[in-house]
Amino acid sequence: MQKTVVLEQDVVQARTATHCPYCAFQCGMYVSGPREQAVVTGNETFPVNKGGLCIKGWTSPATLAHPDRLLTPLARNTRGVLVPVTWDEALTRVVEAIRETQMCYGKDGVGVFGSGSLTNEKAYLLGKFARVALGTAHIDYNGRFCMSSAAAASNKAFGIDRGLPFPLEDIPQSEVILLVGSNIAETMPPMMHYIEAQRNNGGRLIVIDPRFSATAQHAAFHLALTPGSDAVLANGLLHILIRDGLLDTGYILERTEGFARVKAVAATYWPECVERITGIPETYLVQAAHLLGTAKSAMILTGRGAEQQRQGVNNTLAYINIALALGLVGRPASGYGCVTGQGNGQGGREHGQKADQLPGYRKIDDPIARRHMATVWGISEHELPGPGKSAYEMFDGLGQEGGVRTLLVMGANVVVSTPYALHVQARLKELDFLVVVDYFLSETAQLADVVLPSAQWAEEEGTMTNLEGRVIRRKRAFAPPPGVRTDIEMLCDLATRLGKGQFFAFNETCQIFDELRRASAYGIADYSGITYEKIEAHNGVFWPCPTEDHSGTPRLFLQSFPTPTGRARFHAIHHQAPAEDVDTEYPLYLTTGRILAHYQSGTQTRRIAQLREMAPEPCAEVHPATARRYGLVDGEAVQLTTRRGAVVLNIKLTTSIREDTIFVPFHWGGQQSINRLTSPALDPMSRMPEFKVCAVRIECRETAKELP
Ligand code: SF4
Repeated sequence: MQKTVVLEQDVVQARTATHCPYCAFQCGMYVSGPREQAVVTGNETFPVNKGGLCIKGWTSPATLAHPDRLLTPLARNTRGVLVPVTWDEALTRVVEAIRETQMCYGKDGVGVFGSGSLTNEKAYLLGKFARVALGTAHIDYNGRFCMSSAAAASNKAFGIDRGLPFPLEDIPQSEVILLVGSNIAETMPPMMHYIEAQRNNGGRLIVIDPRFSATAQHAAFHLALTPGSDAVLANGLLHILIRDGLLDTGYILERTEGFARVKAVAATYWPECVERITGIPETYLVQAAHLLGTAKSAMILTGRGAEQQRQGVNNTLAYINIALALGLVGRPASGYGCVTGQGNGQGGREHGQKADQLPGYRKIDDPIARRHMATVWGISEHELPGPGKSAYEMFDGLGQEGGVRTLLVMGANVVVSTPYALHVQARLKELDFLVVVDYFLSETAQLADVVLPSAQWAEEEGTMTNLEGRVIRRKRAFAPPPGVRTDIEMLCDLATRLGKGQFFAFNETCQIFDELRRASAYGIADYSGITYEKIEAHNGVFWPCPTEDHSGTPRLFLQSFPTPTGRARFHAIHHQAPAEDVDTEYPLYLTTGRILAHYQSGTQTRRIAQLREMAPEPCAEVHPATARRYGLVDGEAVQLTTRRGAVVLNIKLTTSIREDTIFVPFHWGGQQSINRLTSPALDPMSRMPEFKVCAVRIECRETAKELP
């Protein structure tokens, strides 16, 4: 039984309409109090979830008055123990560390790491804090591990990256949906209502996934590809579509460029060869291609399965090639989209907390963008740093020659969420100073020199941008508990202590949003016409929205693409094997993902009793035939070993996985952290690590060698 912290200043509140703190579906919900007994109900008037919530949403208030909640700043004492300190003492230590580091190593000696869970206002402010208050180039965020490959692919193909360029309400009208590497039945269950409506309208679903996942079980076709073979599969499907004359040649001619080279490459992906590499029988390939190619409307949606690979951008582009060849993009109930994962995975990548970006989805090395932002921020252009290192590259260099020496982490648990996690953990320990802003003592916060307790989702104001590009309001139901500050308050206080207070004179969140609007004006992600009032009045506003009398843009690409020629771009994709292929020493593929009960690094959901009961620990999913081969039985403790380390887990036998593949969810830390084993091989364009495939060995725990 969990105890709750009773906070006396809480009063019973009328219900507050806000949104779930977790995934990018951003379900509308009402919160009613008091905080220690807060409950949520689904908001039936919000058109995205129409009142539906998943178990994570229903249980989300349990974190608000949780006994583990941090209610005071912590700092390490002379014996190296984290102890409560005042805000003044904590912030003084942070500022001293920043000053000392920057005096010894220059401005880039300090780094910042943000999160795709931050509101747009916080993501914007964190980017400004890094560039203006710290003057460092090194800021990146955990969306680098989530959306960066799909984002890079969309930018290359369409000249813009908005996860879904159409509203969810289009899904039920689509005849065929090809869903690649996304298990929405577990990660965002209310989205399945749209898929069910599509099926009830006579539509068909094709799922590409190495697992016969909860989502694949709803599909007309399930293509269980070999992990790491997406580009082969996509090129193979395109080969069949070309061979069988199923393309939209008029669309290709009028609205795209670069098809000739793609056609030449696809010609080399013969179905027999595709079958050999992907493991999908030719007859299935042909049936899936024909379903797609003969549909009057179709959508191709990708998720992290295809994107979190060393060739994640190319995989995504290969699927986009199919969407363009069939003339789907910009057509009714059709198109390509990616299913964004994190709560503000979309907005978080638009407003400047990414190493190479400025607000409005501007490029930091674009002279016009730099001039614009320097004007908005009231600084001179040369003061604005250039591009910094991507997330894993920044972590790999922590405490090293030329690397970051003092790091501020806001709302991320990198010890659990990075690949090759033990290496990153070791690097974090080499820092001169680590500051973590969180509301629980996460695995990362446990390593910090100073921990700053922050307000939670129901205690702050701001906006989020959901997976459709719909900007919505997060509203405050409770004031933060005594001793806790909002991220905005602490960033503004820190900036003032660093002598940059004149750039951070914000009393209210809406003032930050107003500056964000000006910063994004004329940018790709243009929010300048969005106001809090307009969001209220219309259940959200889709960007781009360039003027206050503009109603927003639910559907993109209806007439043209925002590329120099107005056309979408094909990209010829050659398959590359994953960084690690299986061999005699590591004979199986390891793939990872999320499960229904937990969210991301589990900092919140592992603390919620109901969710912990549903999934108390990670299990390794193994096919019974594979278990027999290694003499293993259901529930037995096994050791999984990759080139980076080993973990011991219980196995769960299931026929829903390929015989050559093991699946483990990634929500746990410590000895149960599967990211101790995952590969840090990076996509050369997006710098996305290859979470989704590496080579692994499985052994009975009793007979396995010692843990490396
Ligand atoms: Fe909705 Fe996602 Fe929250 Fe579940 S986790 S309630 S799907 S926003």
